[in-house]
Amino acid sequence: MFTVTKEVSFCYGHRLMEHAGKCRNVHGHSVKAAITLSAEKLNRHGMVCDFGEIDGVACGFIEEQLDHNFLLHRDDPLLPFLRQANERFMALDEHPTAEYLAKLIYQYIAAQGYPVDSVSLWETPSACASYRE
Ligand SMILES: [Zn+2]
Repeated sequence: MFTVTKEVSFCYGHRLMEHAGKCRNVHGHSVKAAITLSAEKLNRHGMVCDFGEIDGVACGFIEEQLDHNFLLHRDDPLLPFLRQANERFMALDEHPTAEYLAKLIYQYIAAQGYPVDSVSLWETPSACASYRE
């Protein structure tokens, strides 16, 4: 089994409603997503996938949807105020944790037909959440 991993850095704001600690407050992160693809056999170029191609697919989604965006649970009471102020945000079906963001990135890349093994999101240099199916 071969794997390749491409890292993509981006920033976002969020808060975790109902969180007992300081994550309940509005704050932001500069994170790194590590996207790993796997294959039993290499393609005719001797690769699992060209790094530039992974970068193109992942960066497209991340830059358009997640980067410098404000990620909130769809039930967050801040949403009406942000809407009224014409601020950019993304309302999510689940709490905007590193785990859920890793899942969103995984599902997007898988939906584009790429053999995603896992997506890890480094929220801090020492804290990482991963998703795989
Ligand atoms: Zn946070």
